[in-house]
Amino acid sequence: MTDRPLLQMAAPRRGKPPRHFADLTHDERVETMRELGLPAFRAKQLATHYYAHLTVDPADMTDLPAGARDELANQMFPTLMTPVTSLVADGGATRKTLWNLHDGVKVESVLMKYPERATLCVTSQAGCGMACPFCATGQMGLTRNLSAAEIIEQVRLAARASRDGDLGENVRLSNVVFMGMGEPLANYKAVMQTVRALVAPEPHGFGLSARHVTVSTVGLVPAIDKLCKEGIPVTLALSLHAPDDELRNELVPINTRWTVDEALDAARRYFDATGRRVSIEYALIRDMNDHAHRADLLGRKLKDRGDGWVHVNPIPLNPTPGSKWTASDPRVEEEFVHTLRAHGIPTTIRDTRGSDIDGACGQLAIKEA
Ligand code: SAH
Repeated sequence: MTDRPLLQMAAPRRGKPPRHFADLTHDERVETMRELGLPAFRAKQLATHYYAHLTVDPADMTDLPAGARDELANQMFPTLMTPVTSLVADGGATRKTLWNLHDGVKVESVLMKYPERATLCVTSQAGCGMACPFCATGQMGLTRNLSAAEIIEQVRLAARASRDGDLGENVRLSNVVFMGMGEPLANYKAVMQTVRALVAPEPHGFGLSARHVTVSTVGLVPAIDKLCKEGIPVTLALSLHAPDDELRNELVPINTRWTVDEALDAARRYFDATGRRVSIEYALIRDMNDHAHRADLLGRKLKDRGDGWVHVNPIPLNPTPGSKWTASDPRVEEEFVHTLRAHGIPTTIRDTRGSDIDGACGQLAIKEA
C-alpha cells in the first residue's frame, strides 16, 4: 500500500465547540449559576433535566422561573449537533445517525436494541489517527478530538430516542461502547469526563453501571495504565488482531510503539487493578491473521498471563470499500474459536449489526454526497 495514512497521535487544534453544561464540573456549574445571579440549586435542577429527563427544552423546565428559563437553557445547552441522516437496519433494531457538529465536521453513532437492553456505539474523535488499514475510519486520518459534551450529547440523544421508542419499543439505554470513530484513549480527558457522566448516579449523570461501559483501544499502554488508576471499573477492550509483532505492525500500526507483549501486559494489569475481565478484539481476516498457528500463539500468550482474566471476541471482518481483504471462511473461524477454547480461553464471536447500513464495526466513515 502506497497511500497509507500515517500514525497521528496529536489532534489538530480547531475552533472549540460552544461551552456546554455537560463540559462543566459541578463546581463550575454552581459558579456559572452565581455569575448569572441564580442560586446554586439551579445547577442541580438543570442536571436533572439533562441527565434524568434527557431534555434541553426550556418548555420542559417548569421548575425554573419562567422569566429565566429560555435564557438559561440557551446559555447552558447550545446546540452542539444536528442529525443529518438516520439509517435503520436489522428490522428496526439498529439505527445509525450521522451528526453535523458546530464546525461542519460529521460523525456517526449507532444505537442497537437487544432483548432487555440497548447499546450505543459512540464516536470519540472525528476521524482517527491510528491508521489501521482494515478500518474505514482509519483511512480518513484525524480531523479533531470531540469535546466531552459532544460525546455526552450522543449519549443523551440516543438515550432519549431509545426511551421514546425509536427502536420499535421503549427501552432504557443500558450500555455504551467507545467503538465508534476514533481512538478513545487518544482523547483521554474528554473520554474520561464522558465516562464519569455515564456512571454518575442521576441527577449528576446517566447512572449506567461501569461494567456496561466499554472502552476499546488499539493499546496505548500509558493511557491504559492511567485508566487503571481512575477507580471506575469500565470494561476494557484491546484491539489485538494479531498475536505476533510482525503482522500486528501492519494491521495495527501503533504496535511499532507498543508491542503485542506490552499491550497484553497492560491489559493484564488492568484486570489486576479493576477485577474486570478484559476483552481481546480480533477481526478475522481471510488468510491474513486467521491461521491455526496464530490462534495457538494467541491462546498461549493469554494463558501465560494467567487464568480467568480475559476473553476473546473474534469479529468477522467487515470489508471496507476498496479493501482487498475479506472475512475468514466460516470453517476457519470455527477452528480459530476451537483452538482458543482448547487453551481454556473463553471465546465468543461478536455479532456484527448494521453491516448493510455501513454501521458495523470499523465501517463508520462518512460518505459525503
Ligand atoms: N480505536 C478503537 C475503537 C474503534 S473501533 C479500537 O481500535 O479499539 C472498534 C472495533 O472495531 C475495534 O476492535 C476495531 O479494530 C474493530 N474494527 C475496525 N475495523 C473493522 C472491520 N473492518 N471489521 C471488523 N472490525 C473492525
